[in-house]
Amino acid sequence: MSQQTFDHVIVGGGSAGCVLAHRLVSAGRSVLLLEAGPADDDKFIHMPAAFVRVLATERAWTYETEPQPSAAGRKMFVPQGRTLGGGSSVNAMVYIRGTPCDYDGWRDLGCPGWGWDEVLPFFKRAEGNRRFADRFHGTDGPLAVSDARYRHPLSLAFLRAAQEAGLPYNDDFNGAQQAGVGFYQCTTFDGRRGSTATTYLAEVRGNAKLSVQTNAHVARVLTKDGAATGVSYLVGGKGEPQTALSRGDVILSAGALASPKLLLLSGIGPAAQLQSHGIGVVRDLPGVGENFQDHLEVSVYGRTREPISLAGSDTGLTALKHGVQWTFFKTGLLTSTVVESGGFVDTTGSGQPDLQFHVLPTLVGDVDREPLPGHGISINPCFLHPESRGRVHLRSSDPMAPIHFDGGYLQAQADADTLVRGLKLARRILRAPSLAKLVSEELAPSAKAEIDDAALETYVRQRAKTVYHPAGTCRMGSDALAVVDPQLRVHGVQRLRVCDASVMPRIISGNTNAPTIMIAERCADFMLAGT
Ligand SMILES: Cc1cc2nc3c(=O)[nH]c(=O)nc-3n(C[C@H](O)[C@H](O)[C@H](O)COP(=O)(O)OP(=O)(O)OC[C@H]3O[C@@H](n4cnc5c(N)ncnc54)[C@H](O)[C@@H]3O)c2cc1C
Repeated sequence: MSQQTFDHVIVGGGSAGCVLAHRLVSAGRSVLLLEAGPADDDKFIHMPAAFVRVLATERAWTYETEPQPSAAGRKMFVPQGRTLGGGSSVNAMVYIRGTPCDYDGWRDLGCPGWGWDEVLPFFKRAEGNRRFADRFHGTDGPLAVSDARYRHPLSLAFLRAAQEAGLPYNDDFNGAQQAGVGFYQCTTFDGRRGSTATTYLAEVRGNAKLSVQTNAHVARVLTKDGAATGVSYLVGGKGEPQTALSRGDVILSAGALASPKLLLLSGIGPAAQLQSHGIGVVRDLPGVGENFQDHLEVSVYGRTREPISLAGSDTGLTALKHGVQWTFFKTGLLTSTVVESGGFVDTTGSGQPDLQFHVLPTLVGDVDREPLPGHGISINPCFLHPESRGRVHLRSSDPMAPIHFDGGYLQAQADADTLVRGLKLARRILRAPSLAKLVSEELAPSAKAEIDDAALETYVRQRAKTVYHPAGTCRMGSDALAVVDPQLRVHGVQRLRVCDASVMPRIISGNTNAPTIMIAERCADFMLAGT
């Protein structure tokens, strides 16, 4: 058994883990970054339009829920990144922060120091925006944020049609106002994906203080006298366990589905659950694995009159042309991030958007579902403030066993209602003049213009899918169900922090990568300040 000692051991080289590694190593700390998956050396990771191809490979985990009673009994499939960069290496690259209300809400939920005015400087510190330089944006940070180099005509048509349907145009969803429709800025640079591995981690890869080990599946955190001392991990997920020791904090950045699992495997969680699996209780923390939240969306599909959509028209010479363009010039159709446009809408008059659109200039499927054949557009309304809550439990004390995962999807009627309102608006946009010119028929939910709410709700329950934003399972706070404190230290366990999307007390109003990076920026500061 090999054994080495570092200042810090970071578990998971994903969105948050790579940020932490960068900041800690840059400050002179020795760091071991352990990542269960392989290196991020698959070319489809870096080619923006091809990211979906990575989801069916060894570089993605596919988590599966229990049958979801409120989603027509379906199991939901939640892919997650399993490579350096984690989610930021396989995601759709949409750069969104959420709204000031999200973070003021965290502060008011018992997380002092996390209000909007306190987190904005960390979003800016992370950001290297290629277009904006104002009070909302940073230009010098490691995380490249830019406009995609390719914009499909169907994305432009969606934006015009949405304005015809009454929605305002918004040039910057991360500026003064979130509401409106527009093009997303994305985590890309020079026509390539900008993951936290190709940005933050790449900047410190040659630093002698940094050790990175891929194919290293952490099995549990080692503790002594109520303090973390290191981790035990399996190379390639099998064989003799290896040990890595830590003088300072061990940080779990394994993502919202794996970090609670690791705490539970380490004896930190609800005592009764741990005992039922024969795991000794290090700390009875009833909130571990609870409070799971995610965003769901549902598609309105329109068939285009001509074969113009992003996917499917490439055969022979045109496919070769796109490949050559990207390989040699980093231009052309393969620089599309696919989810090029969208927007945010307040459908209740609350003053805050409750709905986001992801618009794809193609007929999109899902990990468990083939796309509809032919050419078309997908307009996907997504709810922003889920009321449903799920949970992650252990299925077994075997670290390689899958989790017992109940997403709680659509249990709250309000979540289904929001998607019904979103479907109605998306169908109106599909029929507005600028899209009607290009779209011959609605393929789903219905070719009929008139369809009642009950039928739309049935469609929602049968077809809604996750947009892969698991969050909340190691919630930050100060109450009995909180898992970490506002400095991200695990309650009641010394030298152990959690730093990833799992600490969000409430999921933010939008895509979760940039907020997770902001969380990691803050965590690094807490650690370097000795708090
Ligand atoms: C397909 C997809 C599309 C998305 N699209 C967007 C988008 O367009 N915009 C956006 O903002 N967000 C998007 N997201 C969400 C966003 O990417 C995530 O919220 C973010 O990456 C979460 O970061 P994290 O650090 O919490 O976890 P991750 O980035 O998932 O990192 C966790 C890492 O830990 C590793 N790990 C897990 N278990 C172990 C273990 N036992 N031992 C060692 N390592 C382990 C994993 O392999 C992974 O690399 C998307 C996500 C997916 C999956």
